Amino acid sequence: MKKISQLLENNKNWSESTKEADPEFFNRLSERQKPEYLWIGCSDSRVPANQIVGLIPGDIFVHRNVANLVVHTDFNCLSVLQYAVDVLKVKHVIVCGHYGCGGVDAALGDQQFGLIDNWLGHIKDIAYKHREELSVLNADEKSARMCELNVMEQADNVRRSNIVKDAIARGQSVNVHSWIYSLRNGRVKVLANSDEPEITQ
Ligand SMILES: [Zn+2]
Repeated sequence: MKKISQLLENNKNWSESTKEADPEFFNRLSERQKPEYLWIGCSDSRVPANQIVGLIPGDIFVHRNVANLVVHTDFNCLSVLQYAVDVLKVKHVIVCGHYGCGGVDAALGDQQFGLIDNWLGHIKDIAYKHREELSVLNADEKSARMCELNVMEQADNVRRSNIVKDAIARGQSVNVHSWIYSLRNGRVKVLANSDEPEITQ
């Protein structure tokens, strides 16, 4: 475990090396942000948005919560979505989940965790909706499939939001992507209900 003072030292070094490589970097960014992407991801410390898609500060607007949920009554997430779409005019909304998501696994189990059980109830609803498909899977398969179904459901929630529907109605281009990240190999997989063809390579 690093000491907190080490983090501040890291920050100083990062600031200095960034300025050295690009003297105008901070001047440019301090004036405005114009990201083309909104990332809605899990709070999990192993899934950092910028890093896994190779983007620098200023390139991606980020919202993260436990299990990357987009809940129609969550004003935190909706405020981020509204600002990103209406004001920043992002062209892409990426909902990115990950296999082995603790939030998804907790929702699949019976253990109680307190307040967060209310949040995880949204995932339990998805599991119930897909109970037939899930019933034939073993525990590992069920966890992996639920992580995928959860991402696709949340991406649909983005598409069904008034924010995105209104933006598309006024001619704005907003593409919603369903991605899932593997903690095992660091790769992103595009899921079927994305507004983009699956990448095969
Ligand atoms: Zn997670």
